[in-house]
This record gives sequence, structure tokens and C-alpha cells, in this order.
Amino acid sequence: MFYYSTRGDNEPYSAAGAVLKGLARDGGLFVPSGPLPSIALEPLRYLGYRERAIAITRPFLDEFSPAEITAFFHKAYGGAGFSDPAIAPLHRLNEDLFILELWHGPTSAFKDMALQFLPHLLTGAAAKTRERATAVILAATSGDTGKAALEGFCDVPGTRIVVFYPQAGVSEMQRRQMTTQKGSNVHVVAVRGSFDDAQAGVKELFADSVLAEKLAQRGFKLTSANSINWGRLLPQIVYYFSAYLDLQCSGGVQAGERINFVVPTGNFGNILAGYYAARMGLPVHRLICAANRNNVLADFIRTGLYNRNRPFYRTISPSMDILVSSNLERLLFEITGRDPLQVKEWMRSLQEKGAYRVSGDIARAAAGIFWSDWAGEEETIAAIGGTYREHGYLLDPHTAVAKTVYDKYRAATGDTTKTVITATASPFKFVESVASALLPSSQIAGRSTSELLPLLEKASGLEAPTPLKNLDREPIRHRAVVDRNGIHTSLLDYLALKGD
Ligand SMILES: *Cc1c(COP(=O)(O)O)cnc(C)c1O
Repeated sequence: MFYYSTRGDNEPYSAAGAVLKGLARDGGLFVPSGPLPSIALEPLRYLGYRERAIAITRPFLDEFSPAEITAFFHKAYGGAGFSDPAIAPLHRLNEDLFILELWHGPTSAFKDMALQFLPHLLTGAAAKTRERATAVILAATSGDTGKAALEGFCDVPGTRIVVFYPQAGVSEMQRRQMTTQKGSNVHVVAVRGSFDDAQAGVKELFADSVLAEKLAQRGFKLTSANSINWGRLLPQIVYYFSAYLDLQCSGGVQAGERINFVVPTGNFGNILAGYYAARMGLPVHRLICAANRNNVLADFIRTGLYNRNRPFYRTISPSMDILVSSNLERLLFEITGRDPLQVKEWMRSLQEKGAYRVSGDIARAAAGIFWSDWAGEEETIAAIGGTYREHGYLLDPHTAVAKTVYDKYRAATGDTTKTVITATASPFKFVESVASALLPSSQIAGRSTSELLPLLEKASGLEAPTPLKNLDREPIRHRAVVDRNGIHTSLLDYLALKGD
């Protein structure tokens, strides 16, 4: 299978080439060129997570041998990284509502599902293409990608990993996870600005041919760990299939019965993997795109107008505080019947005017499978408290946004189709917000993150993931802070190329 750009650059890349390059030369995203493979579910039914992953991703990675692909997935999901042997276990809330827990990896967020895999694919790809340069992996993060990428690439030979996060845009736990990161090849930089600033800054580095030349002379090559990288999306397709198969095994659905997925959405990577799964034969009725107060996607799916010219809010679900959802570009490409000129036009309009409007036909095509709404801050807190009281189940704020939007969907449509909510983070990653939903404010006021953690454990009867519990004992190793315009220089500094 080959990959080419959503914006019309016809240069074909192998899977290895696309993963190493990250972003296409014309700024577009890599997408599969052939028809998407269709996956037969029955043979996967009684397999474990890793074996399902191998079978589902193989058609996309045909230049790698079955043994190589098997090794990638055994390294990704086979070691001590995941605290649950099921990797992505399904929890039943009631007869028709299920939670797919995607946060059992080493950094307690769903980003681990992809970022425990990507380093192995990337090193395999470098070997395959005889790439000698050191891969400099760049990531802009709204909080969770950064830590997951650092953890995935930490001390991986032949790589350096550089993470840019919005200085005031991440939770205390997320910040500490990143600033305490160990490893001889890691660098973490706070950016004065929003996630969109960090992401735009990183995209500019990729587009900078002078920089690329300078790096090449010193044996470096940039690549991306953001969900613009095809290697991030691919492993995410697996858990949609796996959730369905687990439901089938437990008698929750009959073979062929359609189900809904609700996905707390920011950069549109997670839900896009669900869309690919549906296109590959998974029986999906609706993909429900849940947004927080930064509701640009909800408006787009409802009206066909994507308009980022609006206030930006910092919310208690910071990993969804995004106004430019990069992966939507891949969806547009597919629902236009793969029309790169049209996609390029919209992306130019987004760049120049901050907005674009799709035609009625395209909007209707999107509405055929997607439904969207958003949740405000108070609704989100209420959903954490309400779900805990009603079901004894603790949601993190991102998953609580999804639960709120699911309730709105059900009220608006009356649809009783069985539904899976993807849970994207452990509630202990967002201790302050979750504690405020469960405990009286008198118990919370003035308490630090590390003081609140045991309180929340006690109130919920749950144990926090061990790496989060140990964070307050780790020294701070990364203190760099730069302006939006300092991103370029900070990269050169780190690679010791300043003044070249
Ligand atoms: C990244 C993230 C999201 C948003 O996922 P996208 O793929 O960017 O849409 C939601 N919740 C959490 C906890 C995340 O880390």
C-alpha cells in the first residue's frame, strides 16, 4: 500500500517513508492511496489484543514481514507498560452503555495506545529505508501527547525527541510528567501561548527547507509524533475493532449489529481512526464527536462551516482545547471522494481567513455518520459526580465531556443503539477537577496536587496509577520557556546548531 498527500502532491511514499516523513511536502497529510482493506471480524473474535492488532494493520504495512509487525506489537503492548493485560478493557456501565478504557498505558492517557507502538515502527522504517540520519521527533502537545511521546521515545537509539507544550495550558500532573522526564535524548520546552500556537510553530519547522538543509548537514532529520503522522493513527484503528469483538464475546452485541462510539475530540485523531474502522467494515451506526467549550468541531459537523475565529477557552479538559483540528483534513479527503484540489482550497482558506465552508452535499455526507455536540465546564463536573453516584464509575474530565454529549445525543435522537464511550485518560491525571466533583470544596481549598491524590483515592476507593503517585518525588529536569517565535531557536540550541 502506498501513501500520498491530501493536498495533491502525487509523490507516492511507502508506509515506512510516510511514517519517517510525518507530513507531506505540500503540507498535506499522508493517506492510503488504495481502497481501504476490509477486515473480516469472525477470525479475530477469539484472539488477544496484540494478535488482533497484527491482523488489522498488516494490509497497511505490506513492506514489513509478518514477523516484523508481530515484533512491533509485542514490544508495544507486551512489556510492563500496560497495567491491564487486556490492554484496552471494556467496562459495562449498563445494558447499552460501555466504557472503553484506553488509559492503562505508562502515561495514563490514550496517546500511549499509539505512542508505545510508533517508536518501533519508526525504527523499523529507518532500518528498511537505510535511513542513517538521527530522527528528531517533534511534538506539539495539548498535554498528553508530549508525555506519551517522551515515554515512547526515551533512550530509543537513533532518535531525539523534542516536545513543545503551552505553558499555561496543561494540568499540574501533565506538566510534572513532562518536566521530570528522564532520558538522554529528550528535550521539553514550554511555549508562552496556546496549543494552536505550539502546533503552528512546529508545522512551520517542518515547512522550513533552509532548516531541513541545515539539519541534514549535521545528520538530523525531522519527523512528527503528532497525530498528523500516519503511524499514530494506524494503531488506533485496532481498539475500535477490539471493543466490538469484546462486546460480541460477552454477548453484548450480535454479529453484524451496529453500535455507536462517543469520542472526546480535539485534534480529530481518535475519532478519525473510528471512521477508518467503519470504512473497513466495522458495523458502526454513529460516531459521536464530543467537544468541550472550544466547540469548533460541533459547529462544523452541524453546519458545514469550520470557523476558528472565536475566543479560545482554557478548560478542565485541556487535551481538547484546540481550534485547528488537523486530522479533519483526512476526513475531508475521504468524504469528497478523495479530491485533493478541493481539500487544498479549504486548507488555504483556513490558513488565510481562519475559516472554510463545505458544500451541502459534503456536510450531509459527514452528518450521515457523525453527530456532534459539546459540553460546558459545569456540565462536565456534574457528569463526573453523577456518573460516580449512579454507576460507581469515575470519569476523567475528557471522558465526562463525552458522557455529557452522549446524554444529549440520546435525548435529541431517542437512539437506543448500544454505545461505547472511549475513555481517554485516567481520572487521576486531572486530580483537581475530579476531586472537586466528588468532594466538598472545604476539603479541596488550598491543597496541592500531591495532597489531593490520596484524598481522591480514598473518596473513590481506587488506586492511582503508580507513575502518577511517584511524580512529586522526581526532580524537575526541564525548565525552558520560549515565546511562540522562539520555537525555531530553541530547537537549534538543543541540537547545538546555533549560529551555523
Ligand atoms: C488527545 C486527547 C483527546 C483528544 O484526542 P484527539 O485525537 O486529539 O481528538 C481527548 N482526551 C484526552 C485525554 C487526550 O489526551
